[in-house]
Amino acid sequence: MRISVIGCGYLGAVHAASMASIGHEVVGVDVDGRKIASLSKGEAPFFEPGLQEILTEGIQSGRLRFTTDMAEARGAKVHFIGVGTPQVKDGYAADLTYVNAAIDGLLPHLAAGDIVAGKSTVPVGTAATLAERVTPTGATLVWNPEFLREGWAVKDTIDPDRLVAGVPDGEEGDRAADVLREVYHPSIAKSTPFIVTDYATAELVKVAANAFLATKISFINAMAEIAEVTGADVTTLADAIGHDARIGRRFLGAGIGFGGGCLPKDIRAFAARAEELGRGESVAFLREVDAINLRRRDRAVDIVVDAFGGSVFKKNITVLGAAFKPHSDDIRDSPALDVAVRLHGLGAWVTITDPAAIENARRIHPQLNYVEDRDEALRGADAVIVVTEWDEYRRELSPEHARELVTGKIIVDGRNCLNAAAWRGAGWEYHGMGRP
Ligand code: NAD
Repeated sequence: MRISVIGCGYLGAVHAASMASIGHEVVGVDVDGRKIASLSKGEAPFFEPGLQEILTEGIQSGRLRFTTDMAEARGAKVHFIGVGTPQVKDGYAADLTYVNAAIDGLLPHLAAGDIVAGKSTVPVGTAATLAERVTPTGATLVWNPEFLREGWAVKDTIDPDRLVAGVPDGEEGDRAADVLREVYHPSIAKSTPFIVTDYATAELVKVAANAFLATKISFINAMAEIAEVTGADVTTLADAIGHDARIGRRFLGAGIGFGGGCLPKDIRAFAARAEELGRGESVAFLREVDAINLRRRDRAVDIVVDAFGGSVFKKNITVLGAAFKPHSDDIRDSPALDVAVRLHGLGAWVTITDPAAIENARRIHPQLNYVEDRDEALRGADAVIVVTEWDEYRRELSPEHARELVTGKIIVDGRNCLNAAAWRGAGWEYHGMGRP
């Protein structure tokens, strides 16, 4: 099938390449000329495992191309919209400027029978409003929210847990759902659930899923706060409650909390939208989820400061990690970088290393010292803090090896990802988050 993907960022580039990899003929459109130039050469503009391979394969096969010219979307049967929906500058709501611009740019190129499939995360009610502009062209708008996880984006796109399609009522909606079934045929054939519903439900499924995940993380971080004043161990607590199948162990990792380009802004936008709808109280707990999450960053900084008896001024602190999570170079609202910047603000000499995100981090925070090589970054440190649980730090860094490089043996485990006994056994002063 001929497909266009409007917006080629983390979501769109992966979607375009994945659709080509399952046999569709795809054109990716973006307003960012640099990104398009890179994608057109078959070079992934960001780090995402598996993307480079399917990008190269797609371009070489002739099924995948990229352009800045929206007119080239003409002729596609399905137009996916994957542009950004960031938080507005002066509040918590989602900024729909890019979605509106993408739809406006696409409208002159739509033909009767085309499907416009929104993938961006939007406030409930957006699709119904956009449909008023799309429907007069004879095209049909559907909302097909995206659930991919960065770091697993290719797998999640090709083999998702479920597919959701919000469609209009009646035959038009049935036909649109059938076209999407055809697009996603390889996944559906592997029995991926395909849920057809109305616009509002589809939009809400996405924000509800993110709200739930954020709540689960903040729940365990709230338990970490209680553990910190009682001497309990939140990791053991998480293991124990996680054995209950109704709870489950996943997403119960206490630490410096969540970040990235989705969870924080999505729960804020959800709360803001609920307030607009007169139901602010229904999701008021999301404000608390957000507050707990941000407090964990303060806590991590306090642990480091306390470890030095009250001041980090002129201390050499090595920060292991910059990306908001491992297997990604995304630094949007990264708790890791936030902690690094705060320590720098307190007068520490901060050195950061990360296997993938240094270039992105340097662009935003040029004042910090970046070192590519992990061991080089560790050399001479008065304290070390792990803020992104890359395997390079979690599995591959032995406390005995690290001990030979540093000046002070203080390790702060901002992700509770290290073996505390092993680090202590090697002579380190180990501090976890919510662990004695
Ligand atoms: P991103 O910032 O990486 O990409 C957005 C892209 O859209 C950019 O490349 C930008 O240049 C382009 N763009 C903006 N206006 C445009 C226009 N008028 N025409 C064409 N292109 C335009 O953002 P992202 O992380 O890919 O997120 C995109 C959407 O997907 C958001 O709504 C996000 O919430 C949602 N989402 C993201 C993820 C994720 O893990 N990144 C997962 C699920 C859902």
